[in-house]
Amino acid sequence: MNNGLMPLVDLRAQYLSIADDLQAAISRVVNSADFILGAEVAAFEGEFAAFCGVAHVVGCANGTDAIELVLRGIGVGPGDEVITVSHTFIGTTEGIGAVGATPVFVDVRDDTLLINPELVERAITWRTKAILAVHLYGQPAEMDVLADIARRHGVKLIEDAAQAHGSTLNGRRAGSLADSATFSFYPGKNLGAFGDAGAIATNDADLARWIRKARNHGRASKYAHDFEGRNSRMDAIQGAVLRVKLRHLEDWNRRRRELAVIYEDGLDRSKFVPVGLRPECVTNYHLFVVRTADRDAVLRRLRQRGIAGGVHYPVPLHLQPAYSSMGYGRGSLAITEAAADSVLSLPLYAEMRTEDCLRVLEALSA
Ligand SMILES: *Cc1c(COP(=O)(O)O)cnc(C)c1O
Repeated sequence: MNNGLMPLVDLRAQYLSIADDLQAAISRVVNSADFILGAEVAAFEGEFAAFCGVAHVVGCANGTDAIELVLRGIGVGPGDEVITVSHTFIGTTEGIGAVGATPVFVDVRDDTLLINPELVERAITWRTKAILAVHLYGQPAEMDVLADIARRHGVKLIEDAAQAHGSTLNGRRAGSLADSATFSFYPGKNLGAFGDAGAIATNDADLARWIRKARNHGRASKYAHDFEGRNSRMDAIQGAVLRVKLRHLEDWNRRRRELAVIYEDGLDRSKFVPVGLRPECVTNYHLFVVRTADRDAVLRRLRQRGIAGGVHYPVPLHLQPAYSSMGYGRGSLAITEAAADSVLSLPLYAEMRTEDCLRVLEALSA
């Protein structure tokens, strides 16, 4: 808590809990004067690959670039379609647009607010190259069903795991649930850097090798450029910070789940319905989201009591000015639109005290 104000996530409290280790890691980078990629990023890539249970992780500048790089790497380009959701952060679709492809929006399930595989199958055309499934709020999408659909139609399946560090589906970690996966380490994610950072996870050695070049000017070596790539490198300081934080990720996620149980038990279900969880999933609770009829009034009530609420996300992508030319009108994705009007994110972070949770519950029931 800062000055009695309760934020949605408290990054300063997290920093203070491991400050010495973080400072030592940062000093190590500064003393080495090896600021971009290098040994720290390579070490993080290896450690995060082991954590996710995949053969390769390639670090990059942010989670949006990760999506662009993976799509480019599997050959998605102009004229191609990528099926995804509208109920997500715009980074999901910016990565699609960046390669010249078109996002095709399908609705989500009413209980989990995750992509509905039946609608995915119906949306597949001869232009479809990939399905980009978002593990929204941390809960993995129905990857087994989606993998079957992708295989039958000969399209690629990608996880947008930007919110799902450490989440599992049938005991397997996000990042290892499809042909490839993308992560963001934006500071507010469950595994967050001290700035922007992202990564691609895959078991495909050729894809990993291509992305490793593409993120660094198409470099095969210092002065050999195999093709025009990007500058989308991870800074060494981010690699060093992420290595320290990765050691705590499981504990932090566990604590979030403890707090989520307190919320689940204390909520007045006649007014607040938590987003549904599938029994085969263990979520990292990137966000604890409830649905409530009078959302904006509840937000105001929380704010009056010094509690920050959040809305993820208030305007679906298909209704954003950025996508108005695509012709999806209001009413075209009914469940997504109803979700945008009713979702409310409650404060949740590992350093939160049980009494903070109870204070939120009290404010909700007032
Ligand atoms: C954060 C996020 C991204 C984008 O990540 P950046 O690192 O901010 O570019 C993409 N998709 C989802 C679902 C996200 O939450």
